[in-house]
Amino acid sequence: MQKKIIVSGSRPTGNIHLGNYFGAIANWVALQDEYECNYFIADWHALTTGYAETKDLRQNSISLMADFLASGLDPSRCTIFLQSLVRQHAELFLLLSMNTPLSWLERCPTYKDQLANIKDRDITTYGFLGYPALMASDILIYGADYVPVGEDQIPHLEISREMARRFNHLYSTEIFKEPLPLLTKSKVLPGTDGRKMSKSYGNTIALADTPEEVRKKVMGMITDPARIRKDDPGHPDVCTVFAFHKVFNESEVPEIEEKCKGGCIGCVSCKKNLQEKIAAFHTPIYEKRTELLSDPDYLVRLIHEGSDKAMTKAEIMMKKVRQAMQIDF
Ligand code: SF4
Repeated sequence: MQKKIIVSGSRPTGNIHLGNYFGAIANWVALQDEYECNYFIADWHALTTGYAETKDLRQNSISLMADFLASGLDPSRCTIFLQSLVRQHAELFLLLSMNTPLSWLERCPTYKDQLANIKDRDITTYGFLGYPALMASDILIYGADYVPVGEDQIPHLEISREMARRFNHLYSTEIFKEPLPLLTKSKVLPGTDGRKMSKSYGNTIALADTPEEVRKKVMGMITDPARIRKDDPGHPDVCTVFAFHKVFNESEVPEIEEKCKGGCIGCVSCKKNLQEKIAAFHTPIYEKRTELLSDPDYLVRLIHEGSDKAMTKAEIMMKKVRQAMQIDF
């Protein structure tokens, strides 16, 4: 039986952190045998907001490839590619731009949200407004059945579905499938200060952090602020360390909760315990990505191989698109 098709991408904007890992990449790894997965390094998407700062883009794309592989994505079980090497995405973006109403783009929640929040750059550009059309191209060009998303991203996927529907209607065809959301359960990790883990807050633990950096970050985590002495009863629900235990040390969670509430465990030993569990997870990934990055030519070769594979698939769809629009000379 033919596997259902999945597409998902990640922007090469810096090093992947544990929040990204548990929010997306861990799911990608889990899906790669059950589905025909197409995962891409979204360098053109990075340009929609970072068009003026491209000096690190190439290196960030290579690092992201290393992060993908070190996390368990396997090029023999899924297609991993660089968006800008599959030019068909740009062609479809152009064609979809012709028939996408401006109002669809302007009402996109991320568009309004980011316009209000990003103040250090001018993102009032044509490319930023049009990024949902680029995203739709990324998805529709592979005939995706599903896109792994969190609930908050469903509105974005709806625009891709609308674009597919409109194209099929305009050109009396059925070539585009309307992709469905694949709602994936992901483990939620806060940042080391208890807020959302985000590079802009400086509270991340990155796959690229050295084991020593990780140790320091864990030992510096915010705990229950009301707990001063070891025998003070703690409130694990407000403690960042405890939130991490839930992800990295599930089996000990009930015991830690009981001991914390009863004032029978010190925060330093609780953190030490967590640090060992995180190290057991993080260090092998760190070592693997360091080894991979010592041979960037190998990573670039894999990027090209994956992109060639993706291009073959994308071209099959583009032939149908050109035909439907009478531009297939
Ligand atoms: S004992 Fe552990 S869970 Fe309780 S407040 Fe301290 S670090 Fe947090």
